[in-house]
Amino acid sequence: MEGYVHSIETCGTLDGPGIRYVIFLQGCPLRCKFCHNPDSWQINAGRKVSVDELMEDILRYRNYIKTGGVTLSGGEPLLQAKFAAELFRECKRHGIHTAVDTSGAIALSICKEAVDAVDLVLLDIKSIDTIKCADLTGKGNEDALTLLNYLEQTGKDVWIRHVVVPGITENEEDIERMAQYLSRFTVIKRVEILPFHKMGEYKWKQLNLNYELGDTQPPEKESIENIKNILRKYRLNVV
Ligand code: SF4
Repeated sequence: MEGYVHSIETCGTLDGPGIRYVIFLQGCPLRCKFCHNPDSWQINAGRKVSVDELMEDILRYRNYIKTGGVTLSGGEPLLQAKFAAELFRECKRHGIHTAVDTSGAIALSICKEAVDAVDLVLLDIKSIDTIKCADLTGKGNEDALTLLNYLEQTGKDVWIRHVVVPGITENEEDIERMAQYLSRFTVIKRVEILPFHKMGEYKWKQLNLNYELGDTQPPEKESIENIKNILRKYRLNVV
């Protein structure tokens, strides 16, 4: 089984617990306005790698990642759902913890096998308002919320991620709605609030793409704290 890989980070600390071997897969069906990896959008622009080759490399780092594990990120890793499922099963066979960092944009009927095989799901909720979500990413949030419901039914741990973009998602009413919605899920172990940044803007320019958020500034620290406090009111474990 082969997949298209964008890049690999062998000692990642941001995408799941502990030190992790992070594989960024190529390909994404969304077009988030704040994307910092637009070079990951086209699936066949990646390097073709087999599960066996990846496992061989992962096992070389086994000692470093023993308190962490392996994370599949992207792009949208569940776009290559069969490849992801096989990699997760192989990791499990070697006793390695797995996580997937997903936008939830892939229909459950397609990604179920991979989701069932992974230990932890890092799920992006781009906006709780499906119309705003479609405006921000090109697609509504229905598949992400369906996935979250499925994870609740199957009792799989979830970390929610939400990017705060001034003028778009930096909106107290939407945050309150999202907090209320998320508070009913027992599988959500933490919520990560990520301030918008423009570190990927240069890539849009290199690819001749129109970066709409050029004039948008990162949110103020106070605003992020305020958003975190709204979420905490609903007993969510915010980091
Ligand atoms: S889901 Fe991720 S990779 Fe895809 S467009 Fe959005 S930010 Fe970029």
